[in-house]
Amino acid sequence: MFESIVEFFRNLPPKECVQCGNKIDEQHECYGNKCEHCMDVTNI
Ligand SMILES: [Zn+2]
Repeated sequence: MFESIVEFFRNLPPKECVQCGNKIDEQHECYGNKCEHCMDVTNI
C-alpha cells in the first residue's frame, strides 16, 4: 500500500514556476504557481 502512494507522487509532473519556469520544490507548494525566488521578488 505504501509503495503505491510513493509511485503516485513520483508519477506526478513537477510543478513549474509560471514566471521563470523553474521547478517548484514540493516544500514551497503552498506558494502557488511561483517558485520561492519569484515570490520573494513579488513580496518586495
Ligand atoms: Zn520563479
